[in-house]
Amino acid sequence: MQPAGMEPAGMEVAGMGRAGTEPTGMGMAAMEPAGLEPAGLGTEGIEPAGTGTAEMGIAGIEQAGTGTAGMGIVGIEPEGMGTAGMEPAGMVPPEMEPAREAEEPPGSPALPAEPAQDGPPAAVPPGQGALPAAPGREREQERGRRGADAQSSTGRAARGRARRASSRRSGGESARRAGVTVDSSKAKTSLEALKISLRQLRWKEFPLGRRLPCDIYWHGVSFHDNNIFSGQVNKFPGMTETVRKITLSRAMRTMQSLFPVEYDFYPQSWILPEELSLFVEEVRMMKDNDPSWKPTFIVKPDGGCQGDGIYLIKDPGDIRLMGSIQSRPAVVQEYICKPLLMDKLKFDIRLYVLLKSLEPLEIYIAKDGLSRFCTEPYQEPTLKNLHQVFMHLTNYSLNIHSGNFIHSDSVNTGSKRTFSSILCRLSSRGADVKKLWSDIISLVIRTIIALTPELKVYYQSDIPAGKPGPTCFQILGFDILLKKNLKPMLLEVNANPSMRIEHEQELSPGVFENVPSPVDEEVKVAVIRDTLRLVDPQKKKRKDTQCQSLEQAREGSQELPEAALPSLCLKQVFPKYASEFSYLRLVDRVAALFIRFLGVKGTTKLGPTGFRTFIRNCRLSNSNFSMAAADILYIDITRRWNSMGIEKESGNPGMCLQAFVEAFFFLARRKYKSLPLHEQVSALIECCECRLAALRRKRLVWGCGIAERQEALPGTGTAPGPGCTSPPQPRGHQAFRFQKSSQLKVLMCRDRTGS
Ligand code: ADP
Repeated sequence: MQPAGMEPAGMEVAGMGRAGTEPTGMGMAAMEPAGLEPAGLGTEGIEPAGTGTAEMGIAGIEQAGTGTAGMGIVGIEPEGMGTAGMEPAGMVPPEMEPAREAEEPPGSPALPAEPAQDGPPAAVPPGQGALPAAPGREREQERGRRGADAQSSTGRAARGRARRASSRRSGGESARRAGVTVDSSKAKTSLEALKISLRQLRWKEFPLGRRLPCDIYWHGVSFHDNNIFSGQVNKFPGMTETVRKITLSRAMRTMQSLFPVEYDFYPQSWILPEELSLFVEEVRMMKDNDPSWKPTFIVKPDGGCQGDGIYLIKDPGDIRLMGSIQSRPAVVQEYICKPLLMDKLKFDIRLYVLLKSLEPLEIYIAKDGLSRFCTEPYQEPTLKNLHQVFMHLTNYSLNIHSGNFIHSDSVNTGSKRTFSSILCRLSSRGADVKKLWSDIISLVIRTIIALTPELKVYYQSDIPAGKPGPTCFQILGFDILLKKNLKPMLLEVNANPSMRIEHEQELSPGVFENVPSPVDEEVKVAVIRDTLRLVDPQKKKRKDTQCQSLEQAREGSQELPEAALPSLCLKQVFPKYASEFSYLRLVDRVAALFIRFLGVKGTTKLGPTGFRTFIRNCRLSNSNFSMAAADILYIDITRRWNSMGIEKESGNPGMCLQAFVEAFFFLARRKYKSLPLHEQVSALIECCECRLAALRRKRLVWGCGIAERQEALPGTGTAPGPGCTSPPQPRGHQAFRFQKSSQLKVLMCRDRTGS
């Protein structure tokens, strides 16, 4: 995890000085340079873990044939392998209309007025135009110059056309001309990449904020960085909490209990301290079953980042219980001992994923990412090398302190490279990179499906339906490790992946300078720019005004037409592949029930009355399960969850979503005994949804009945109630039809669920 503002370059990792003091939990051995072959110079590329033989072609890679439940997504093109299948951008819901210049929203943040910035669109520096992000400031400027030349030759003609067209234009065009406005005042360390992106798009930046609303707010840390009531913000409420190590592990475990095969890409994990004895017991049992199993575990403090406090152990008994474990919960996880190596080094992948919308779910994946390399040749963990941080941890923030770290001056060498360069290398050695890419897409979609229930709870709490608020999107950083057999494994999800495009370099001892990082710039600028293009609030408008000629539309806007920009680096994967993954969204439906019974807006926890209403309305109590038993279930589960780590911190005593999910699974198991868990849960969801729908219809009927009775009274002319919109019928007829259909539905529901 790498929150913005905690940038690796130059900062001191906990317990680790700049000049190579020992990182927390790791021994001094880690600091010894180990005669490393410079990354990128090796010719043999891929090496089997632990064999000690340097020579091995890609043919030696075992392909993870069964890794994703036998599912491959066809037609996905990795970077550099064509752009077929790119989705058209611009699925912007109507509520994302751009804010009007003149409107002053209620409660608009009281920033000082900045007339200069409210003037004409920000001047585009010469040449900061429609070119793909390229590494290095020099190249950027060079492209800028080229762009300026090209523009000047066509500029006169264009201006002429513009003058001629101006007489035809209506006043409405001035709004379109103003371009998309972006508040970058809270962008923090992503500012540089954001600025370049905005220049490329020719959008208007407000670096100090703006008194009037902006179309887009770019936050460096969280949704709450600003008070916003309109437009779009690049963070979802609750995302940071949702992807914390413990919360993510819990969400993944829930999904693993429902769909063990589909979710086998997340290493088996236990939460400390609450599951310490479970961890010890389960490992003992697994060792008893398979005496040849010699596992290693990695202990990661919750909320930690950049490798902070991480250590490896061979035996559950080695968990460090001293110190502040009680106050700092952690995740202990099976360590992946056989990672894919390149140039004998372990590396991981940082992939950028855009969650464009939660409801409906829209996910995009960047076609390129970063690969971060260790700086000491990898060996499978032994008691002797367990402490060698530069061998086992791929964190940039750690490895930059190694004498072997190589700053990359091209995208396919050094200690940080593009993922596409890795794919090319794998491909040239015969690996099935399309299968790998499709496995990665499955991993991403499945992970987001695991996260959405919790996110929806936070969302309704922060932006209650019907209240003014922004819509959200977010770029997430997925950290993925490839196993030797090319199976991708999820390590973690970052809510605030670093978007820095420069790094600190030590020019002479103790003298540091920020220098551009071409690899970072290439990948990150494209991700930010194309995220903006996808959420462009004016895109929909432009589509809506198709009656205007293309020429007119171009002339009317200061922005660059899509055609002048590079093809999108973000690829839509959901809803594109929804049909293959929607069956996994069971917990989402449980969360919808939870949210329905939350009652008071703005809360994330269910009170005892809400739980009782849920049981009663879904008619889940009977002679075998009384309302008193429901109360006890509520108390038991809620108390346990609230006594655990993170929930305790929130101070709110109600039942959190995860606790509700546990109660729901308990009820499902009880009701549908012989089925597999996911079928039990699915059956109970259907039963609840069906009974709630029947109840809703019944209430409508009651509403109609009242209306009709009122209508029947002399002198009242009340219209039919909601839902009773069909043409006038003989009195009582309509109500009867409603009643009949609801009874039928209830009976069908009973039939289906076997109750
Ligand atoms: P942090 O947020 O502190 O960076 P991570 O979960 O990303 O924590 O772990 C840090 C590094 O440790 C990863 O980049 C990876 O190299 C290594 N790592 C983490 N989990 C595992 C695992 N289960 N198996 C092998 N290596 C791991």
